[in-house]
Amino acid sequence: MSQNTEAIFPHGEKASPDYFSGTTWVKSLVTANDGFNTIISNVVFEAGARNNWHTHPNGQILIVTDGVGYYQEKGKDILVIQKGDVIKIPADVIHWHGASHDSSLTHIVINPNIQKGIVQWMDRVTDEEYNRFK
Ligand code: MN
Repeated sequence: MSQNTEAIFPHGEKASPDYFSGTTWVKSLVTANDGFNTIISNVVFEAGARNNWHTHPNGQILIVTDGVGYYQEKGKDILVIQKGDVIKIPADVIHWHGASHDSSLTHIVINPNIQKGIVQWMDRVTDEEYNRFK
């Protein structure tokens, strides 16, 4: 039996370097204009890429569909996340997510109840912080 290694979604647009370190791609799947008060996007982080520290005013759900990455909440250890993991991020918890050092990471991000806002961006995740996992 051959393995299916095709990506599920196209890469989409490059994420803003203001909020992302390294190359990251965002493909919008459900937009604010679709009437569900929910945004859903597919995000691909190339190895070493990650987003800034940030919060979501009504939380966020990550569904990892490919690769290996990291997730960290402020004050806690970096967790390894991989294909099949579902991460439920509570409202207003300071965190970041991204690829691991050696692998890309693909996840679907779900932001519910966006009438309360979507994201508050904070400081960049420094190399020192990112390399703490090594
Ligand atoms: Mn997030």
